[in-house]
Amino acid sequence: MSSNCGFTGCNQVGNHRHEEHIPEPPVLDTILEHIGNTPLVRLNKIAKSEGLQCELLAKCEFFNAGGSVKDRIGRRMVEEAERDGRLKPGCTIIEPTSGNTGIGLALAAAVKGYRTIITLPEKMSQEKVDVLKALGAEIVRTPTEAAWDAPESHIGVAKRLNAEIKDSVILDQYSNPYNPVTHYDHTAEEIYRSCDGKIDMFVAGAGTGGTITGIARKLKALCPGIIIVGVDPHGSILAQPESLNTSTEGYKVEGIGYDFIPDALDRGLVDKWIKSADKESFIMARRLIREEGLLCGGSSGTAVAAAVQAAKQLGPGKRCVVLLPDSVRNYMTKFLNDGWMQTNGFTDLAMVTEQETKKH
Ligand code: PMP
Repeated sequence: MSSNCGFTGCNQVGNHRHEEHIPEPPVLDTILEHIGNTPLVRLNKIAKSEGLQCELLAKCEFFNAGGSVKDRIGRRMVEEAERDGRLKPGCTIIEPTSGNTGIGLALAAAVKGYRTIITLPEKMSQEKVDVLKALGAEIVRTPTEAAWDAPESHIGVAKRLNAEIKDSVILDQYSNPYNPVTHYDHTAEEIYRSCDGKIDMFVAGAGTGGTITGIARKLKALCPGIIIVGVDPHGSILAQPESLNTSTEGYKVEGIGYDFIPDALDRGLVDKWIKSADKESFIMARRLIREEGLLCGGSSGTAVAAAVQAAKQLGPGKRCVVLLPDSVRNYMTKFLNDGWMQTNGFTDLAMVTEQETKKH
């Protein structure tokens, strides 16, 4: 509610608005307390232009302190390992990751004072590498094409370093129960509360599968009849039925898809899988930025493109929630760059026309 503040000087500088006082958040002890409680935002224009009858809401995980959904598990896996005594002062954290779990862990490690080594496939962006280095992590790049169980893969190299380095631990997001449990305890609860319990469909991409597994498990218990949609890129093998996984080609979207089924992923919780392509993912990510003002990453485009497809079956009064895992900060020289989009053949006619129109 607006009110007049009564300060006579106000009139000299124009119209002031004084909102009803909402208590300011308290001072945080460390930045690790700024993880979670991310906003749920209505996708107005995209839902309308795609002809959806239902409401489409985006859970914006790029508002976490380190910029992604994986900050949640970075902090939780560190705290649980401290609690059970596996992680003590002087220990080194080693983790194979597509980058965001590395950033989440390195953030926790920077605040708490652990040495961190991240093994990262070559495919992942330089932006992630720079953030990791700035947080003090040491990086080992590994060949993208190495099979997950090959000694030179990011997982294989992490295991070797773990054997070589005294007092080192791999918290292992692929099998650590606290990966899905974090999302069961928090991310799902936040979505449920923001929606007052009314959710008809939930859509998310899968990498380790921790996000979709934890959220699906909790929402299925709380919202009977909810439809869980998993998104898996062409070239990955996470989708079911297996007949969907026809391609063995690589893909450019980062953070989703694998060539093995991680323990953190319970595919029994997913009602329907949608396979995704790079082009639709990056074009949708650009639309999320341009039309909705959401500064998200490429896999957010993947999830929303699939959500738009799946939510066509929902009628008026229904609600679909889609999770946006990370921020455009990780991809400034990739899909945010028009030249990169064009070189990779990801620019569609509408986007080119819009740029051309602006030139004239
Ligand atoms: N998108 C991005 C950008 C990610 O980094 C990840 C994590 N690998 C995911 C999606 C998928 O999350 P999860 O590992 O929980 O399945």
